[in-house]
Amino acid sequence: MNENRIFEHMKQAIEVEWANPHLLPAREAYYPISDEQIFDASARLNRFSSFFMSAFPETIPTKGIIESPLTAIPNMKEYIEQSYQLHLPGTLYLKRDDSLAIAGSVKARGGIYEVVKHAEDILIRSKLLNPQNDYACINSDEIRKHLGKYTIEVGSTGNLGLSIGIISAALGFEVIVHMSADAKEWKKTLLRSKGVNVKEYAGDYSMAVDAGRKSCENSSHRYFVDDEHSVNLFLGYAVAAERLQKQLENQQITVDCSHPLFVYIPCGVGGAPGGIMYALRKIFKDNVHIFFIEPTQAPCMLLGLVSGKFEKICVQDIGLHGLTEADGLAVSRCSSLVSKIADTHLAGEFTVEDSMLYKYLGFLWKSEKIFIEPSSCAAFAGPARFNDSTEIQDYITRRNLADKLENSCHICWATGGNLVPADIREGYLNKADI
Ligand SMILES: *Cc1c(COP(=O)(O)O)cnc(C)c1O
Repeated sequence: MNENRIFEHMKQAIEVEWANPHLLPAREAYYPISDEQIFDASARLNRFSSFFMSAFPETIPTKGIIESPLTAIPNMKEYIEQSYQLHLPGTLYLKRDDSLAIAGSVKARGGIYEVVKHAEDILIRSKLLNPQNDYACINSDEIRKHLGKYTIEVGSTGNLGLSIGIISAALGFEVIVHMSADAKEWKKTLLRSKGVNVKEYAGDYSMAVDAGRKSCENSSHRYFVDDEHSVNLFLGYAVAAERLQKQLENQQITVDCSHPLFVYIPCGVGGAPGGIMYALRKIFKDNVHIFFIEPTQAPCMLLGLVSGKFEKICVQDIGLHGLTEADGLAVSRCSSLVSKIADTHLAGEFTVEDSMLYKYLGFLWKSEKIFIEPSSCAAFAGPARFNDSTEIQDYITRRNLADKLENSCHICWATGGNLVPADIREGYLNKADI
Protein backbone atom coordinates (compact mmCIF):
# COMPACT_ATOMS: atom_id res chain seq x y z
CA MET A 1 0.00 0.00 0.00
CA ASN A 2 1.50 3.33 -0.85
CA GLU A 3 1.91 6.07 1.71
CA ASN A 4 -0.93 8.21 0.38
CA ARG A 5 -3.41 5.40 0.68
CA ILE A 6 -2.26 4.64 4.22
CA PHE A 7 -2.82 8.30 5.06
CA GLU A 8 -6.24 8.34 3.45
CA HIS A 9 -7.30 5.24 5.38
CA MET A 10 -5.87 6.54 8.62
CA LYS A 11 -7.77 9.83 8.19
CA GLN A 12 -11.02 7.97 7.60
CA ALA A 13 -10.34 5.67 10.57
CA ILE A 14 -10.34 2.59 8.34
CA GLU A 15 -8.32 -0.42 9.52
CA VAL A 16 -4.91 -0.64 7.84
CA GLU A 17 -1.94 -2.94 7.78
CA TRP A 18 1.46 -1.42 7.22
CA ALA A 19 4.93 -2.85 6.72
CA ASN A 20 7.65 -0.44 7.79
CA PRO A 21 9.78 0.56 4.78
CA HIS A 22 12.49 1.93 7.13
CA LEU A 23 13.01 -1.34 8.99
CA LEU A 24 16.72 -2.12 8.99
CA PRO A 25 18.56 -5.40 9.51
CA ALA A 26 19.26 -5.72 13.24
CA ARG A 27 22.97 -5.04 12.85
CA GLU A 28 22.33 -1.69 11.12
CA ALA A 29 19.43 -0.42 13.25
CA TYR A 30 19.42 2.36 15.85
CA TYR A 31 20.57 1.48 19.39
CA PRO A 32 20.47 4.50 21.72
CA ILE A 33 20.31 2.32 24.85
CA SER A 34 23.08 -0.08 25.85
CA ASP A 35 22.98 -3.70 26.98
CA GLU A 36 24.56 -2.54 30.26
CA GLN A 37 21.58 -0.26 30.96
CA ILE A 38 19.19 -3.19 30.50
CA PHE A 39 21.36 -5.53 32.64
CA ASP A 40 21.48 -2.85 35.32
CA ALA A 41 17.66 -2.61 35.31
CA SER A 42 17.35 -6.37 35.52
CA ALA A 43 19.81 -6.52 38.44
CA ARG A 44 17.91 -3.75 40.25
CA LEU A 45 14.63 -5.65 39.94
CA ASN A 46 16.41 -8.70 41.37
CA ARG A 47 17.66 -6.63 44.33
CA PHE A 48 14.10 -5.49 44.97
CA SER A 49 12.69 -9.04 44.92
CA SER A 50 12.82 -9.38 48.71
CA PHE A 51 11.03 -6.05 49.10
CA PHE A 52 8.33 -7.19 46.69
CA MET A 53 7.86 -10.44 48.63
CA SER A 54 7.64 -8.52 51.87
CA ALA A 55 5.21 -5.81 50.68
CA PHE A 56 3.24 -7.92 48.18
CA PRO A 57 2.91 -11.52 49.40
CA GLU A 58 1.31 -12.42 46.04
CA THR A 59 4.87 -12.29 44.61
CA ILE A 60 6.22 -14.95 47.00
CA PRO A 61 5.47 -17.90 44.65
CA THR A 62 7.71 -16.30 41.99
CA LYS A 63 10.37 -15.31 44.57
CA GLY A 64 9.66 -11.62 44.20
CA ILE A 65 10.12 -11.62 40.43
CA ILE A 66 7.15 -9.93 38.78
CA GLU A 67 6.74 -12.01 35.65
CA SER A 68 3.89 -13.54 33.66
CA PRO A 69 3.43 -16.94 32.02
CA LEU A 70 3.68 -17.64 28.31
CA THR A 71 0.68 -19.78 27.47
CA ALA A 72 -0.17 -21.73 24.31
CA ILE A 73 -3.68 -20.87 23.09
CA PRO A 74 -4.40 -23.54 20.44
CA ASN A 75 -8.17 -23.21 20.86
CA MET A 76 -8.00 -19.49 20.14
CA LYS A 77 -5.93 -20.21 17.05
CA GLU A 78 -8.55 -22.66 15.84
CA TYR A 79 -11.35 -20.22 16.67
CA ILE A 80 -9.70 -17.46 14.63
CA GLU A 81 -9.03 -19.85 11.76
CA GLN A 82 -12.62 -21.05 11.63
CA SER A 83 -14.18 -17.62 12.09
CA TYR A 84 -12.14 -16.07 9.28
CA GLN A 85 -11.70 -19.14 7.09
CA LEU A 86 -7.94 -18.89 7.18
CA HIS A 87 -4.93 -20.96 8.06
CA LEU A 88 -2.56 -19.30 10.51
CA PRO A 89 0.76 -21.07 10.05
CA GLY A 90 2.74 -21.97 13.18
CA THR A 91 1.72 -21.84 16.83
CA LEU A 92 -0.12 -19.15 18.80
CA TYR A 93 0.83 -18.06 22.34
CA LEU A 94 -0.42 -15.47 24.80
CA LYS A 95 2.04 -13.53 26.98
CA ARG A 96 -0.03 -13.09 30.12
CA ASP A 97 0.92 -9.60 31.33
CA ASP A 98 -2.78 -9.24 32.14
CA SER A 99 -1.91 -11.38 35.15
CA LEU A 100 1.25 -9.57 36.29
CA ALA A 101 1.37 -9.20 40.06
CA ILE A 102 0.65 -5.87 41.79
CA ALA A 103 -0.72 -3.92 38.79
CA GLY A 104 -2.46 -6.48 36.54
CA SER A 105 -1.03 -4.97 33.37
CA VAL A 106 2.15 -4.52 31.37
CA LYS A 107 2.61 -1.29 33.38
CA ALA A 108 3.81 -3.46 36.27
CA ARG A 109 7.07 -3.64 34.32
CA GLY A 110 7.99 -0.04 33.51
CA GLY A 111 5.99 1.78 36.17
CA ILE A 112 7.16 -0.28 39.11
CA TYR A 113 10.73 -0.24 37.86
CA GLU A 114 10.90 3.54 37.60
CA VAL A 115 9.48 4.07 41.09
CA VAL A 116 11.74 1.53 42.82
CA LYS A 117 14.74 3.02 41.02
CA HIS A 118 13.78 6.46 42.31
CA ALA A 119 13.29 5.10 45.83
CA GLU A 120 16.68 3.37 45.73
CA ASP A 121 18.39 6.56 44.54
CA ILE A 122 16.88 8.57 47.40
CA LEU A 123 17.63 5.95 50.05
CA ILE A 124 21.24 5.47 48.97
CA ARG A 125 21.77 9.23 48.86
CA SER A 126 20.29 9.53 52.37
CA LYS A 127 22.50 6.65 53.59
CA LEU A 128 19.46 4.62 54.60
CA LEU A 129 20.30 1.80 52.20
CA ASN A 130 23.22 0.25 50.42
CA PRO A 131 22.92 -2.12 47.48
CA GLN A 132 24.31 -5.01 49.55
CA ASN A 133 21.38 -4.85 52.00
CA ASP A 134 18.50 -7.27 51.98
CA TYR A 135 15.88 -4.99 50.44
CA ALA A 136 13.11 -6.42 52.62
CA CYS A 137 14.33 -3.70 55.04
CA ILE A 138 12.65 -1.11 52.78
CA ASN A 139 9.27 -2.36 53.95
CA SER A 140 9.59 -0.54 57.28
CA ASP A 141 7.94 2.44 58.96
CA GLU A 142 11.24 4.33 59.15
CA ILE A 143 11.85 4.12 55.41
CA ARG A 144 8.20 4.81 54.55
CA LYS A 145 8.32 7.89 56.74
CA HIS A 146 11.44 9.11 54.96
CA LEU A 147 10.01 8.50 51.47
CA GLY A 148 6.80 10.20 52.59
CA LYS A 149 8.65 13.52 52.28
CA TYR A 150 8.77 12.97 48.52
CA THR A 151 6.01 13.08 45.93
CA ILE A 152 5.66 11.02 42.75
CA GLU A 153 3.40 12.29 39.97
CA VAL A 154 2.30 10.74 36.71
CA GLY A 155 -0.13 11.37 33.87
CA SER A 156 -2.19 8.35 32.93
CA THR A 157 -5.12 6.95 30.97
CA GLY A 158 -5.49 4.41 33.78
CA ASN A 159 -3.07 1.51 33.99
CA LEU A 160 0.14 3.48 34.40
CA GLY A 161 -1.57 5.37 37.21
CA LEU A 162 -2.57 2.08 38.85
CA SER A 163 0.94 0.70 38.65
CA ILE A 164 2.72 3.88 39.83
CA GLY A 165 0.02 4.61 42.41
CA ILE A 166 0.09 1.17 44.04
CA ILE A 167 3.88 0.82 44.20
CA SER A 168 4.44 4.43 45.32
CA ALA A 169 1.87 4.11 48.10
CA ALA A 170 3.49 0.87 49.27
CA LEU A 171 6.86 2.61 49.53
CA GLY A 172 5.35 5.52 51.49
CA PHE A 173 5.60 8.17 48.77
CA GLU A 174 2.95 10.82 48.38
CA VAL A 175 1.48 10.17 44.97
CA ILE A 176 -0.61 12.19 42.55
CA VAL A 177 -2.07 10.63 39.41
CA HIS A 178 -3.26 13.01 36.69
CA MET A 179 -5.96 11.14 34.80
CA SER A 180 -7.13 11.91 31.27
CA ALA A 181 -10.80 11.94 30.29
CA ASP A 182 -10.47 8.42 28.84
CA ALA A 183 -9.66 6.87 32.22
CA LYS A 184 -12.25 4.37 33.43
CA GLU A 185 -14.11 5.24 36.60
CA TRP A 186 -13.19 1.99 38.36
CA LYS A 187 -9.49 2.67 37.93
CA LYS A 188 -9.87 6.02 39.70
CA THR A 189 -11.92 4.45 42.48
CA LEU A 190 -9.39 1.70 43.03
CA LEU A 191 -6.54 4.20 43.23
CA ARG A 192 -8.37 6.45 45.69
CA SER A 193 -9.00 3.41 47.88
CA LYS A 194 -5.20 3.03 48.13
CA GLY A 195 -4.74 6.60 49.33
CA VAL A 196 -3.68 7.95 45.95
CA ASN A 197 -4.56 11.55 45.05
CA VAL A 198 -6.36 11.33 41.69
CA LYS A 199 -6.79 14.50 39.65
CA GLU A 200 -9.17 14.41 36.71
CA TYR A 201 -8.89 16.33 33.46
CA ALA A 202 -11.39 16.90 30.69
CA GLY A 203 -8.63 16.64 28.11
CA ASP A 204 -6.66 13.79 26.61
CA TYR A 205 -3.54 11.97 27.67
CA SER A 206 -1.04 14.64 26.57
CA MET A 207 -2.91 17.19 28.67
CA ALA A 208 -2.77 14.98 31.77
CA VAL A 209 0.95 14.46 31.20
CA ASP A 210 1.56 18.20 30.82
CA ALA A 211 -0.30 18.89 34.06
CA GLY A 212 1.89 16.43 35.96
CA ARG A 213 5.07 17.69 34.39
CA LYS A 214 4.24 21.30 35.33
CA SER A 215 3.33 20.34 38.86
CA CYS A 216 6.80 18.84 39.39
CA GLU A 217 8.82 21.69 37.89
CA ASN A 218 11.24 23.49 40.19
CA SER A 219 10.90 21.10 43.10
CA SER A 220 13.57 18.62 44.16
CA HIS A 221 11.04 16.68 46.22
CA ARG A 222 8.58 16.10 43.41
CA TYR A 223 9.35 13.51 40.77
CA PHE A 224 7.48 13.18 37.52
CA VAL A 225 7.27 9.84 35.71
CA ASP A 226 7.35 11.03 32.12
CA ASP A 227 5.79 8.45 29.83
CA GLU A 228 6.65 10.52 26.76
CA HIS A 229 10.41 10.57 27.43
CA SER A 230 11.39 8.29 30.29
CA VAL A 231 14.37 6.01 29.74
CA ASN A 232 13.74 4.31 33.10
CA LEU A 233 10.23 3.25 32.14
CA PHE A 234 11.64 1.95 28.87
CA LEU A 235 14.29 -0.07 30.74
CA GLY A 236 11.70 -1.65 33.01
CA TYR A 237 9.79 -2.85 29.96
CA ALA A 238 12.96 -4.00 28.23
CA VAL A 239 13.73 -6.53 30.99
CA ALA A 240 10.78 -8.56 29.65
CA ALA A 241 12.87 -9.79 26.72
CA GLU A 242 15.56 -11.77 28.57
CA ARG A 243 12.82 -13.38 30.64
CA LEU A 244 10.79 -14.27 27.55
CA GLN A 245 13.92 -15.77 26.04
CA LYS A 246 14.21 -18.10 29.06
CA GLN A 247 10.53 -19.03 28.85
CA LEU A 248 10.87 -19.88 25.17
CA GLU A 249 13.89 -22.06 25.93
CA ASN A 250 12.10 -23.80 28.80
CA GLN A 251 9.12 -24.51 26.58
CA GLN A 252 11.42 -25.69 23.79
CA ILE A 253 10.23 -23.06 21.36
CA THR A 254 13.05 -22.48 18.90
CA VAL A 255 13.71 -19.04 17.47
CA ASP A 256 16.32 -19.01 14.72
CA CYS A 257 16.63 -18.28 11.01
CA SER A 258 14.28 -21.12 10.11
CA HIS A 259 11.91 -20.56 13.07
CA PRO A 260 10.66 -16.97 12.97
CA LEU A 261 9.04 -15.32 15.97
CA PHE A 262 6.16 -12.88 15.42
CA VAL A 263 5.15 -10.64 18.32
CA TYR A 264 2.02 -8.45 18.39
CA ILE A 265 1.84 -5.72 21.03
CA PRO A 266 -0.89 -3.11 21.60
CA CYS A 267 0.61 0.38 21.48
CA GLY A 268 -0.36 3.60 23.25
CA VAL A 269 2.38 6.17 23.65
CA GLY A 270 4.86 3.43 22.77
CA GLY A 271 6.84 2.95 26.00
CA ALA A 272 5.72 -0.57 26.84
CA PRO A 273 5.75 -2.09 23.35
CA GLY A 274 8.87 -0.08 22.50
CA GLY A 275 10.96 -1.34 25.43
CA ILE A 276 9.88 -4.91 24.78
CA MET A 277 10.55 -4.60 21.04
CA TYR A 278 13.98 -3.07 21.48
CA ALA A 279 15.26 -5.73 23.85
CA LEU A 280 13.74 -8.56 21.79
CA ARG A 281 15.54 -7.29 18.71
CA LYS A 282 18.81 -7.17 20.67
CA ILE A 283 18.36 -10.83 21.53
CA PHE A 284 16.70 -12.36 18.47
CA LYS A 285 17.89 -9.89 15.82
CA ASP A 286 16.40 -10.56 12.39
CA ASN A 287 14.53 -13.65 13.57
CA VAL A 288 11.94 -11.62 15.48
CA HIS A 289 9.24 -9.60 13.72
CA ILE A 290 7.42 -7.11 15.89
CA PHE A 291 4.10 -5.53 15.05
CA PHE A 292 2.30 -2.84 17.05
CA ILE A 293 -1.47 -2.54 17.05
CA GLU A 294 -3.29 0.75 17.61
CA PRO A 295 -6.96 1.85 17.55
CA THR A 296 -8.15 3.35 14.25
CA GLN A 297 -8.97 6.53 16.20
CA ALA A 298 -5.60 6.82 17.97
CA PRO A 299 -2.86 5.54 15.65
CA CYS A 300 -0.27 7.98 16.99
CA MET A 301 2.78 5.75 16.43
CA LEU A 302 1.75 4.79 12.92
CA LEU A 303 1.10 8.44 12.11
CA GLY A 304 4.45 9.52 13.56
CA LEU A 305 6.30 6.87 11.56
CA VAL A 306 4.49 7.17 8.24
CA SER A 307 4.73 10.98 8.26
CA GLY A 308 8.32 10.96 9.49
CA LYS A 309 7.24 13.59 12.02
CA PHE A 310 7.42 11.29 15.06
CA GLU A 311 6.11 13.12 18.19
CA LYS A 312 5.68 16.36 16.22
CA ILE A 313 2.30 15.28 14.83
CA CYS A 314 -0.86 14.18 16.63
CA VAL A 315 -3.95 12.28 15.45
CA GLN A 316 -6.12 15.41 15.69
CA ASP A 317 -3.86 16.98 13.04
CA ILE A 318 -5.36 14.55 10.52
CA GLY A 319 -8.92 15.04 11.72
CA LEU A 320 -9.34 12.09 14.07
CA HIS A 321 -11.07 12.69 17.41
CA GLY A 322 -8.80 10.28 19.25
CA LEU A 323 -11.54 8.71 21.36
CA THR A 324 -11.52 4.94 21.82
CA GLU A 325 -12.85 2.27 24.17
CA ALA A 326 -9.26 1.05 24.42
CA ASP A 327 -8.35 3.34 27.31
CA GLY A 328 -4.80 1.96 27.49
CA LEU A 329 -4.21 2.95 23.89
CA ALA A 330 -6.03 6.30 23.86
CA VAL A 331 -2.96 8.37 23.06
CA SER A 332 -2.82 11.11 20.42
CA ARG A 333 0.92 11.71 20.24
CA CYS A 334 3.66 9.09 20.34
CA SER A 335 6.80 8.96 22.47
CA SER A 336 9.73 10.74 20.83
CA LEU A 337 12.20 8.19 22.23
CA VAL A 338 10.24 5.16 21.06
CA SER A 339 9.16 6.44 17.65
CA LYS A 340 12.79 7.01 16.66
CA ILE A 341 13.66 3.49 17.81
CA ALA A 342 10.60 1.95 16.14
CA ASP A 343 11.57 3.61 12.87
CA THR A 344 14.34 1.04 12.29
CA HIS A 345 13.20 -1.86 14.50
CA LEU A 346 9.45 -2.20 14.00
CA ALA A 347 8.28 -4.67 11.32
CA GLY A 348 4.90 -3.00 10.94
CA GLU A 349 1.54 -2.01 12.34
CA PHE A 350 -2.11 -2.94 12.29
CA THR A 351 -4.88 -0.54 13.28
CA VAL A 352 -8.06 -1.94 14.76
CA GLU A 353 -11.64 -0.76 15.21
CA ASP A 354 -13.11 -0.68 18.69
CA SER A 355 -15.86 -3.14 17.73
CA MET A 356 -13.21 -5.76 16.88
CA LEU A 357 -11.69 -5.51 20.36
CA TYR A 358 -14.90 -6.89 21.83
CA LYS A 359 -15.07 -9.54 19.16
CA TYR A 360 -11.58 -10.78 20.07
CA LEU A 361 -12.41 -10.49 23.77
CA GLY A 362 -15.35 -12.84 23.16
CA PHE A 363 -13.28 -15.24 21.03
CA LEU A 364 -10.65 -15.59 23.75
CA TRP A 365 -13.21 -16.09 26.45
CA LYS A 366 -15.17 -18.67 24.48
CA SER A 367 -12.15 -20.62 23.25
CA GLU A 368 -9.75 -20.46 26.22
CA LYS A 369 -11.80 -19.11 29.16
CA ILE A 370 -9.28 -16.29 29.48
CA PHE A 371 -10.47 -12.74 30.11
CA ILE A 372 -8.33 -9.74 29.16
CA GLU A 373 -9.30 -6.07 28.92
CA PRO A 374 -10.36 -4.52 25.58
CA SER A 375 -7.08 -2.62 24.99
CA SER A 376 -5.21 -5.90 25.32
CA CYS A 377 -7.37 -7.58 22.71
CA ALA A 378 -5.91 -5.35 20.01
CA ALA A 379 -3.02 -7.83 19.78
CA PHE A 380 -5.27 -10.36 18.03
CA ALA A 381 -5.66 -8.14 14.97
CA GLY A 382 -2.21 -9.50 14.02
CA PRO A 383 -3.01 -13.20 13.72
CA ALA A 384 -6.59 -12.55 12.57
CA ARG A 385 -5.45 -10.46 9.60
CA PHE A 386 -2.03 -11.99 9.01
CA ASN A 387 -3.08 -13.85 5.86
CA ASP A 388 -5.38 -11.52 4.00
CA SER A 389 -3.14 -8.50 4.07
CA THR A 390 -1.07 -7.90 0.95
CA GLU A 391 1.22 -5.64 3.00
CA ILE A 392 2.06 -8.48 5.34
CA GLN A 393 2.33 -11.03 2.54
CA ASP A 394 4.79 -8.71 0.77
CA TYR A 395 6.75 -8.45 3.99
CA ILE A 396 6.89 -12.25 4.19
CA THR A 397 8.10 -12.51 0.60
CA ARG A 398 10.69 -9.75 0.91
CA ARG A 399 12.14 -11.28 4.07
CA ASN A 400 12.18 -14.76 2.60
CA LEU A 401 9.90 -16.14 5.28
CA ALA A 402 7.31 -17.99 3.20
CA ASP A 403 8.75 -21.48 3.57
CA LYS A 404 9.45 -20.97 7.29
CA LEU A 405 5.99 -19.93 8.39
CA GLU A 406 4.87 -23.41 9.40
CA ASN A 407 7.73 -23.35 11.96
CA SER A 408 6.80 -19.93 13.27
CA CYS A 409 5.63 -18.90 16.71
CA HIS A 410 3.15 -16.02 17.12
CA ILE A 411 2.91 -14.28 20.48
CA CYS A 412 0.03 -11.93 21.29
CA TRP A 413 0.99 -9.70 24.21
CA ALA A 414 -1.95 -9.52 26.63
CA THR A 415 -1.27 -6.16 28.24
CA GLY A 416 -3.92 -5.92 30.94
CA GLY A 417 -6.99 -7.40 32.58
CA ASN A 418 -6.48 -8.81 36.06
CA LEU A 419 -7.72 -5.83 38.05
CA VAL A 420 -10.96 -5.36 36.08
CA PRO A 421 -13.79 -5.67 38.65
CA ALA A 422 -16.36 -8.45 38.19
CA ASP A 423 -19.27 -6.19 37.17
CA ILE A 424 -17.23 -4.37 34.52
CA ARG A 425 -15.96 -7.72 33.24
CA GLU A 426 -19.55 -8.88 32.97
CA GLY A 427 -20.39 -5.77 30.95
CA TYR A 428 -17.50 -6.40 28.55
CA LEU A 429 -18.55 -10.00 28.04
CA ASN A 430 -22.11 -8.89 27.33
CA LYS A 431 -20.82 -6.43 24.81
CA ALA A 432 -18.80 -9.26 23.25
CA ASP A 433 -22.10 -11.05 22.84
CA ILE A 434 -21.29 -14.11 24.93
C1 LIG B 1 -0.39 1.18 28.55
C2 LIG B 1 -1.00 0.06 27.87
C3 LIG B 1 -0.59 -0.35 26.60
C4 LIG B 1 0.44 0.35 25.76
O1 LIG B 1 1.56 0.86 26.42
P1 LIG B 1 2.20 2.25 25.98
O2 LIG B 1 3.42 2.35 26.77
O3 LIG B 1 1.21 3.33 26.30
O4 LIG B 1 2.41 2.17 24.51
C5 LIG B 1 -1.23 -1.43 26.05
N1 LIG B 1 -2.23 -2.08 26.71
C6 LIG B 1 -2.64 -1.72 27.93
C7 LIG B 1 -3.72 -2.50 28.58
C8 LIG B 1 -2.05 -0.64 28.55
O5 LIG B 1 -2.47 -0.28 29.75
